[in-house]
Amino acid sequence: MFKLVLLIALSVFSLKLLATNQHVHGQGKLLIAQDGQDWQLEFVIPMADLLGFEHVAETAQQKNSIDALIKKIENVSEVLSLSETCSLISVQHSLDDMHPSHEHASHDSYMHEHKHDHDHKHEDEHAHKDVSITYVYACESEVELINIKVFEWAKSLEKLNAQWITNQGQGSTMLTASSTTLRLGS
Ligand SMILES: [Zn+2]
Repeated sequence: MFKLVLLIALSVFSLKLLATNQHVHGQGKLLIAQDGQDWQLEFVIPMADLLGFEHVAETAQQKNSIDALIKKIENVSEVLSLSETCSLISVQHSLDDMHPSHEHASHDSYMHEHKHDHDHKHEDEHAHKDVSITYVYACESEVELINIKVFEWAKSLEKLNAQWITNQGQGSTMLTASSTTLRLGS
């Protein structure tokens, strides 16, 4: 659906702008690319800001939190709203990996993980995780405004660095809880 060249263009574009971007709690990004009628919106947000933890679910409560988050993500109106002339084609996210696999869900493994948690600091550098969420829309007319809702419930998320490449050009802006509307165009 999406032309490879556009994805490469977006990657180069984002690499350039985000050369210094690292995993920082409270800060996420939103990459938007248009290819004719197709629009792709990709959020990358620290898992800590969406769930309060950054590891494979270890407890029933954490599993439930992941399930609840997946429902929220799939119920797009909790995350964003955009023009009524757009219809959602697909939703993809990276959260399925965060459920324990069947072979690792044994009691022993749980105890191991639980004990391990106590020296969390030791693992911290490698433990950070982002959640990526990608929405693909088909839009009958140009999208001028996108309203971001994720700040309403991801309370520790302070800002989203939004970047876009559309038929009208490219640009970037910083979205925050008090500035949730993305204005595309020149
Ligand atoms: Zn982190």
